[in-house]
Amino acid sequence: MALIVQKYGGSSVADAGKIKNVAQRIAATRDEGKQVVVVVSAMGDTTNYLIGKALEITDRPDLREFDALLSTGEQMSMALLAMALKNMGYEAISLSGAQAGIRTDATYSQARILAVESKRVVRELEKGNIGIVAGFQGITDEMDITTLGRGGSDTTAVALSASLGAEICQIYTDVEGVYTADPRLVPEAQKLAEIGYDEMLEMASYGAGVMHNRAVELGALFNIPILVASSFTQSPGTLIHGGASMEVRNKVRGIAHDLDVAKVTMVGVPDRPGISAAIFQPLARAGVSVDTIVQNASIDNITDLTFTVAKSDLTKAMEVVEPIAKSIGARECVSDSRLGKISIIGTGMQNTPGYAARMFGALSELDINIQLITTSEIRITCIISDTEVKKAVRALHRALELEIPE
Ligand code: ASP
Ligand code: MG
Repeated sequence: MALIVQKYGGSSVADAGKIKNVAQRIAATRDEGKQVVVVVSAMGDTTNYLIGKALEITDRPDLREFDALLSTGEQMSMALLAMALKNMGYEAISLSGAQAGIRTDATYSQARILAVESKRVVRELEKGNIGIVAGFQGITDEMDITTLGRGGSDTTAVALSASLGAEICQIYTDVEGVYTADPRLVPEAQKLAEIGYDEMLEMASYGAGVMHNRAVELGALFNIPILVASSFTQSPGTLIHGGASMEVRNKVRGIAHDLDVAKVTMVGVPDRPGISAAIFQPLARAGVSVDTIVQNASIDNITDLTFTVAKSDLTKAMEVVEPIAKSIGARECVSDSRLGKISIIGTGMQNTPGYAARMFGALSELDINIQLITTSEIRITCIISDTEVKKAVRALHRALELEIPE
């Protein structure tokens, strides 16, 4: 029997009425004769509420206990949803991450899935049950509860899909799919019918909030088709897949933006082997995740080195690099915490020159100063002032004619 994995996000299960709506949708899939495994997020803002509770006790919660606390949000949803289905006369059983065999490393709050031991889930499916699995959580070899990072239920769903050999992983959320830009910012943004894994990974990693980037990565690795669609409508959504996109008219598929960027520049850095390692190894040990890194070409063996981090990591990053700057004889460290980034993404850009020029042209018309530029084969990113990101997204969407339907 064909197996489908469905994931419902926090806003789709925010209250009893919405949980009952989700139960109806699951029942409809079951009635089509499919085996169904459902992954749920915590109801609405529950995860933020739980984080707030921890911070009322201490501003540095113990990491193991923090994950034990956060995992309860998803457990609430799984039990309520299983009750709703049983109440409608369907066989269903809730399973925590541990019960569903989601094995992770022991990096609390950012754990990575090492394996999915899905024997229990398979057994329940064979008994005729719909499996309702708590997303965002797993268990270590020591049987300690971990969580996968904010938005991690998507990753649970794709990992289960791979392990169970699901025909598709359907991610249901409060938007109707993946858009050419955030539709809250750009009303004329277009929903994409399909997008490749590579493009989606860049979109998710560079700020498009629709999906957890590790979920896309896993989807690509195991070639799991992923559908992103709304749990409130019957609209067809966006299919993320491995096949090449059809010959699309517009080589840019979308614009991603992120308002959470801070930058650190180490000025007057002696240019000799080992310097970058001396800076970035301690940052990694301190758990600071570094995004863009740019080193200038050196003049007289002196260079400047710039990197970006999330705004919330800036203080920690400065605490780490200031003493290093002194010890290696750099002139000073300066930071800017009011930045954002805007990226244009599309596989087709690889073979079509001119997109960088169009992007820079559109920003220059708005008199926006570009602070850093980085690229991949299928992405161009500009780091600019955070106050200018919104108007830049709108202008760029127009300049690249993304409002024209494909
Ligand atoms: N409940 C978690 C969060 O809010 C995980 C998720 O929603 O995927 O981040
Ligand atoms: Mg969520």
